[in-house]
Amino acid sequence: MHEWDYIIVGAGSAGSVLAARLTEHSDVSVLLIEAGGRDLPPAVAVPAAWPTLSGSAADWADVTTTQVTSGVSEPMPHGRGLGGSSAINAMVFTRGHRTSYDAWQLPGWTFADMLPYFRRSETTAGRDPRLRGTDGPLTVGPAARPHPLFADGLTAALEAGHPFADDPSSGVREGFGWTDLTVALGHRQTVADAYLRPVLGRPNLTVETNATVYALTIDNGRCTGVAFVRDGRPHTVTAGTEVILAAGAIGTPHLLHLSGIGPAAELEQAGITPLVDAPGVGQNLQDHPVSGVLYRAARSVPPGDGNHAEITGLVQSPAATRPDLQLLFVDLPLRGAGLPGPDAGEGYALQVALMAPHSRGTVRTVSADPLTRPVIDPRYNTDGRDVAALVAGLEIARDIGESAALRPWRGREVLPGPDGDLRASALRNIRSYHHYAGTCRIGDVLDLELRVRGVDALRVIDASVLPAIVSGNTNAPVVGIAERAADLITGSRKEVVGGPSVGR
Ligand SMILES: Cc1cc2nc3c(=O)[nH]c(=O)nc-3n(C[C@H](O)[C@H](O)[C@H](O)COP(=O)(O)OP(=O)(O)OC[C@H]3O[C@@H](n4cnc5c(N)ncnc54)[C@H](O)[C@@H]3O)c2cc1C
Repeated sequence: MHEWDYIIVGAGSAGSVLAARLTEHSDVSVLLIEAGGRDLPPAVAVPAAWPTLSGSAADWADVTTTQVTSGVSEPMPHGRGLGGSSAINAMVFTRGHRTSYDAWQLPGWTFADMLPYFRRSETTAGRDPRLRGTDGPLTVGPAARPHPLFADGLTAALEAGHPFADDPSSGVREGFGWTDLTVALGHRQTVADAYLRPVLGRPNLTVETNATVYALTIDNGRCTGVAFVRDGRPHTVTAGTEVILAAGAIGTPHLLHLSGIGPAAELEQAGITPLVDAPGVGQNLQDHPVSGVLYRAARSVPPGDGNHAEITGLVQSPAATRPDLQLLFVDLPLRGAGLPGPDAGEGYALQVALMAPHSRGTVRTVSADPLTRPVIDPRYNTDGRDVAALVAGLEIARDIGESAALRPWRGREVLPGPDGDLRASALRNIRSYHHYAGTCRIGDVLDLELRVRGVDALRVIDASVLPAIVSGNTNAPVVGIAERAADLITGSRKEVVGGPSVGR
């Protein structure tokens, strides 16, 4: 039987980076296994079409449990196919504020440690090259043809007294500005497009698609390979060096649970024999809940050809010690599931995303049958501090929304509404930002080099590893983490020139 040095499970954001970086070393062989397909729906390439991808063939289409604070269940899309969630996401490319990384207090994972890897991942133009990359695989930049609502929205934020951020994606700026997008020449660029597809021909890289891993093979405490099913037939493959799980913050804990690595009592209840009692696997689920102020527009909102959210603003709520709210203008009337409001073209939203939530949720496995989906409960807003921060964010959003610059667009406030209660709105008008993270965190489930404690030759490298979610959209952080992890694995730490200033 053929044996690879490394087996990577999942060709999403992290898996695409890892497969490409590890196979730069010609003496290293890699098998990358992806549950979804190689060819994705054509809408993946069209930036404005991203909302239509939820529920498509490129989505696992999970849902949350009914949330106690909102009374509704949230759709929980996450990507399936080459590129994973980077193929269905909203393309905002931002690192999160440097204080998020520093707050982890983990050696090797501070913002300064991550900066060379962020830079290595991207090509930007017109940004400070000490902070931003100029020759990395992902080509990122602000919207080429800004939507008129967003230009006025930015003016409104400045009018309300917020600072202008010349580079809100950098991780060292607060305030409002044009965010970078993973859109190149008008088309979405998935992480697979940037990293993986160009190297598919490498002789040391094998990619299996439509192949779903259902178990890890563990022999005497060592992970020796994985079992997967393709076209209804089971296969077993072995890794000479390591297995790397990059199946995402939902897929990775599920796979560990199915393989007997997780909270022992919970696994037994599901009919799974525990091998390693690892209570943290599937705990600590975090996401950014999004509320917002919804407006009926005074004039038609053109559909636009961007990603529907070209401006972001990072701000700090009164009780916070670091930036904890992201505000974003959306040219769609987005609102919580089941709430009435205007149709597309008739409304817009000023959304408020809670960037440093205190609430923690779970991904639980309830059956030994791999086809039974795990139970996902983010427990949004179950910590009162989160509700308070969202209410503060709604006040900030309203203030901006009332600015003179938005007068031509503003019809009337629909949510919370002139007589609406902000707290009630923060609880009920809530959506997922789809930034699931934290379910196999560094420092608990994983050591500092992302190795699973209690099992040899097994690492996790994806959004699961974040000890606490960062104050930005999660794709760029995951790409940066995978870049650093590739160096940790190969031991080829590269020197970085020109120690950049990371001051505000
Ligand atoms: C609708 C939506 C909008 C978003 N918008 C943004 C945004 O604008 N900006 C941003 O930065 N982030 C955004 N995100 C989040 C961001 O894209 C993700 O955090 C990031 O891509 C996660 O990367 P990952 O490698 O951890 O997982 P993923 O990219 O999800 O990759 C996991 C891969 O593993 C595969 N897999 C899972 N289980 C198995 C198995 N058992 N066998 C084989 N393969 C398996 C999956 O099919 C998938 O391809 C969004 C996400 C969604 C869903």
